[in-house]
Order: sequence, then C-alpha cells, then structure tokens
Amino acid sequence: MSMPVVAIVGRPNVGKSTLFNRIAGQRIAIVEDKPGITRDRIYSRSDWSGRAFHLIDTGGLEFNKKDEVVEHIRHQAELAIEEADVILFVVDGKEGVTATDEEVGRLLHRSNKPVVLAVNKLDHIKHEDHVYDFYRLGFEEPIAISSLHGSGTGDLLDAVIRCFPEGEEEEYDTDTIRVSIIGRPNVGKSSLVNRILGEQRVIVSSVAGTTRDAIDTPFSHDDQDYVIVDTAGMRKRGKVYESTEKYSVIRALKAIERSDVVLIVLDGVEGVTEQDKRVAGIAHEGGRGAIFVVNKWDAVEKDDKTMKRFSEEIREAFGFMDYAPVLFTSAKTGQRVNRVLPVVKEVAEQHAMRVSTSVLNQVLQDATMSTPPPSVKGKRARIQYGTQVSVKPPTFVLFVNDPESVHFSYTRYLENQLREAFGFIGTPIRMMLRKKK
Ligand code: GDP
Ligand code: GDP
Repeated sequence: MSMPVVAIVGRPNVGKSTLFNRIAGQRIAIVEDKPGITRDRIYSRSDWSGRAFHLIDTGGLEFNKKDEVVEHIRHQAELAIEEADVILFVVDGKEGVTATDEEVGRLLHRSNKPVVLAVNKLDHIKHEDHVYDFYRLGFEEPIAISSLHGSGTGDLLDAVIRCFPEGEEEEYDTDTIRVSIIGRPNVGKSSLVNRILGEQRVIVSSVAGTTRDAIDTPFSHDDQDYVIVDTAGMRKRGKVYESTEKYSVIRALKAIERSDVVLIVLDGVEGVTEQDKRVAGIAHEGGRGAIFVVNKWDAVEKDDKTMKRFSEEIREAFGFMDYAPVLFTSAKTGQRVNRVLPVVKEVAEQHAMRVSTSVLNQVLQDATMSTPPPSVKGKRARIQYGTQVSVKPPTFVLFVNDPESVHFSYTRYLENQLREAFGFIGTPIRMMLRKKK
C-alpha cells in the first residue's frame, strides 16, 4: 500500500516549519547520522500511531520569485491539493483570521481533499478559546496547537490519520513488476519509456491503468508482466510548479511508493546533481529496488575510461546505494535500452528473494567467526541467530545478547557478507537487532 502524503499549507510565519520540525524532528535525528543521504527540510517520512506518511512543508517551495505573497501561497496550496492525500492548514491563533486565510480556505474548500485545520501559537490553555474564531473558515473542528511547545500536536495527528484513505486494495497482481522512472526534467525519461515500449516483443496493454491522479502503463515482455507507474506524472508539463526542481521530487514520492523497482535516470552529459541524490535517498529509505540509468550516452564525449569514471562518480555520490546496478543508455539511438528490462527483472527477483533460515545462519556463523563483533566498553556482542522476516526489501532480524553494543559498522559488515553470499543485487537490505530473551 502506498504511503499517504500530508502537505502543510498556510501563510508565512504562522509556524509551518516549526510544526514540520516538531512532527518530523525525531525521525530526522535518527536517519541523519547515516552518511550520504541528502535531506531537505521540506519533506520527511514520519509516523504516528504506527501509520507512516510523507510530510511536506509547502512553505519551503519557491516558485516564481516575483510572486506576491498571496500568489505564492496560492501556488503552494494548488500543489498541495494536487499531490497530497490530506492537507494540514495552519493558521496563527494569536492573530486571528486574516483575509489571506480566507482565500486559502476557499481554495481548499473547492478541492475534494480532506483538510485538517491547525490553530497554532496557542501556547497557553487560557488562549484556547481563540480557536472558535476559526470556525468561520468552515472546516470541521479546528484544533488548538502550540508547535513551539508541542501541545495539541497529538490530537492534530490523530485527526490527520483519520483522514487517510482506507486500505487501498492491491492494484496489480503480485507477479507484476511495478517500475517507476524517476529523474530531473529533460534527462530523457519519456524518451526512454517510448523506447522500452517500442522494443520487440514488448506487448503494451491497450487499457491504461488509472489510480487516483496517476496513469499507469501495463505491458508484458518475455512472459513477464510489468507496469510503469505514473506515466502521466512523468510526462506532465506546463504548470507553474513543474519547473521547480523540488516539485519533481515531490511528484516522485508517490511513484516511488507505488513501485518495486525505481529507475533513477541521470543525464550522462550533466552528471549527478543534488536533486538526483534526494530522489535516490527516497528510493533507498523506501526500501525499493534501484537501478541507475545514465542516459544520453550518445552525446557524451568518451574514451575507453569514461564509463568507469562515471560509475565511480555514481558510487561516490550515492555511497549508501552501492548495491544498485548502473546502465548506460541512449534513448535517442536505442543503444543498450534492451538491457533495461532484463536488469529490472533481475532486481525485482532479488528484492523479493527469501533465503532459508539454515543457510542464513550458516553465513552469519561464518561471518561472526572470521570477524567477531568488536567489544564496546568491555562488552562483546554475541549474534545468536538470524531470520528473514520479510521481502521487498529483504528484512532480517538478528537476535543478539546485547543489541546496544553492536556498532553500525558491524551491521554494515554483516550486510556485505549477506550480499556476498546471496547477491541481493539492486535491493536495500534491512537489518534489525533484537535482544535475545
Ligand atoms: P512558517 O513561515 O509558517 O514556516 O513559520 P515558522 O515556523 O518559521 O514560524 C514563524 C515564527 O513563529 C517563528 O518565530 C516561530 O518561532 C514562531 N512560532 C511557531 N510556532 C509557534 C508557537 O506554537 N507558538 C509561538 N509563540 N510561536 C511560534
Ligand atoms: P524527460 O523530461 O525526462 O521526460 O525528457 P524527454 O524524454 O522529454 O527528453 C528531453 C530531451 O532530451 C528531448 O529533447 C529528447 O529528444 C532528448 N533526449 C532524450 N534522450 C536522449 C538521448 O539518449 N540522447 C540525446 N542526445 N538526447 C536525448
């Protein structure tokens, strides 16, 4: 099931980014110590009561620098309406309802998206009746919060979660490989899709799949069913926010959520950019299979070392994703485009691979024998045994006498040993340490 997207909307200075940090803060602190993941303060994965969701602060998006404030907020709100499952509308409880709040409110009313109204900056109980003023905006039950102190945010998140779409049923058969094609504007995503679909023996279904705002393209090749998710979003053009770099990252969130394998398309001429790293980070954290496709290879001036150098650049830039294969293609000439589907299929298989407990424990035993966990403060961890608890991505639980004493670098070592033994090409691996009772 894909993860809901919650977008924070509101005038400048009402406290959107304070609220964003309050909700996302904990999570950011946890993941930021992993090297190589570029983080943006405008979106984050968060969870509440066991429900995970993406949180976006639209206040961090700039469209046209010349926009007046009202125009600016209108664009942010339009984007939220388009992309989010739930809109978190923040107003300033100290200031009361303003004309701009009313205008944003009207815009949100015209959409059919659920809206939760947060009346912020009510730092003291005695201010709480300020919320009544905000009933005027016409949304159900405004919720008094203080982003600064954290009060009310639990009730707020409860209300947000109640608005999530009910368990969507699986859209495709589990044997169908769901692929998304992600990358900055103009790297050649649509050209690549057209090439893939135009290949020999590719049979495109005459019926496009439609889900919410997305249009999918199902097809088959060599008896394998595939679907390219959100082909429409990929091709969409022209709206004011399309040109902003951050927007294409947000658009990519949902496509990545809905896929098994993500093709991260890079521009062979321009090289790797910060935005590419953000998108890759989302795929990695989301536990999706990933393949780097360096496109426009025809236009690159090359010698016999260029490919190697580009691969090294990728390994350096995406250090945390050394498992992802790299392909060099030209959507223009068709060069190596026929390699794409076989690699997608292989990665999808590895992403769904389950290894037997006995073989797994043999590998773990060998690994811990040849390099035992280093002792931390005089204590040495003992990995008792492990088991694979799920697939997509492969997830392992290792039972340890003292999980705290296992250093991050040691889990990394074990991960590499598993990769050496089983492959797991193109897929992240998750490892959880549990205390052996
Ligand atoms: P944004 O422009 O909507 O993202 O607003 P910010 O999060 O940057 O906040 C604007 C100002 O309001 C900052 O000075 C914050 O410290 C302050 N602020 C945010 N939330 C609260 C709150 O709950 N109570 C009070 N008293 N101030 C707040
Ligand atoms: P998208 O925005 O990522 O979907 O990119 P498009 O598929 O629309 O391509 C953007 C531009 O790059 C177009 O002018 C394409 O003709 C060109 N293009 C796409 N793939 C290649 C390629 O492999 N080589 C060259 N030289 N140009 C390409």
